[in-house]
Amino acid sequence: MIPGPFAYHRPKSVADAVAMLADLGDDARPLAGGHSLIPMMKLRLATPAHLIDLADVADLKGIRADGADVVIGAMTTQHELIASDALAGKVPLLRETSLVIADPQVRYAGTLGGNVANGDPGNDMPAVMMCLGATYEVAGKSGPRRIAAREFYQGAYFTALEPGEILTAVRIPVPPTGHGSAYEKLKRKVGDYATAAAAVVLTMNGGRVATCSIGLTNVAETPLWAEEAGRILAGSALDAATVKKAVAAAEAITSPASDARGPARYRTKMAGVMLARALARARSRAG
Ligand SMILES: Cc1cc2nc3c(=O)[nH]c(=O)nc-3n(C[C@H](O)[C@H](O)[C@H](O)COP(=O)(O)OP(=O)(O)OC[C@H]3O[C@@H](n4cnc5c(N)ncnc54)[C@H](O)[C@@H]3O)c2cc1C
Repeated sequence: MIPGPFAYHRPKSVADAVAMLADLGDDARPLAGGHSLIPMMKLRLATPAHLIDLADVADLKGIRADGADVVIGAMTTQHELIASDALAGKVPLLRETSLVIADPQVRYAGTLGGNVANGDPGNDMPAVMMCLGATYEVAGKSGPRRIAAREFYQGAYFTALEPGEILTAVRIPVPPTGHGSAYEKLKRKVGDYATAAAAVVLTMNGGRVATCSIGLTNVAETPLWAEEAGRILAGSALDAATVKKAVAAAEAITSPASDARGPARYRTKMAGVMLARALARARSRAG
């Protein structure tokens, strides 16, 4: 329960953080809220020789509007996502999801950037970002670039971030006025990671689904974007038969592990149940 030895660095800018990561190489890791990394270090599952704490990098903080997007700095905490009424007005799914992450103590320190960059399939925000069509802004020694959330996750704890790159912000296209959204998460107890969870963003037109995007949490090695399920629902009135077909399509792309949260088959079925519930709730909220 005691981490191995490490040197602690506290850069003041993105450029300094990137330079430090480039200088120190594979032995260095960015530190955000520490609520995933420090437990891993205590278990000696991670043994970085250098921690680059991003806490003093002001450019990584805050929530701002940029045209049709909302841009959230990587070091924005989950608590700050909940506290922002402006954000909740534009993308209510983020407050709803943040409220089911861990507990208030974790959310005061845990950041959006750490949650999405970590690559843990149990984290809630990655599937939500895939559902929303978000883009991750990253910086490295060869400059800034953008990566679609839907292309970011390559395996458990394996992402499209290159060595030495940090995630600087998450860019989310604001869903249209009148959209409905929901995040449904099954967990064993308050503060637990998901047994299975589903995010939905949909728009309606004349009683029929105009667009529908679906993300699934913790039912594969990576978060999932259930593209085919969303396509099945488009144009439907969310009737029971079509929802059943979409749920089956979503279940078909899952491949959860059997673990303390239940056997694989149960977790797949629970992903379907969460999706059906999220669809109904998103529909009831859509204008
Ligand atoms: C008891 C407990 C329960 C939890 N339950 C949940 C839950 O239900 N759902 C959930 O989603 N999460 C849960 N978490 C995890 C929590 O949300 C973490 O805070 C979050 O996943 C990681 O964010 P962090 O800021 O703490 O990142 P850190 O722990 O500091 O970093 C995590 C990883 O991301 C890397 N990293 C961090 N920031 C950046 C960046 N800007 N650029 C590049 N790499 C970066 C780090 O190097 C590290 O590898 C729980 C944690 C605890 C302790």
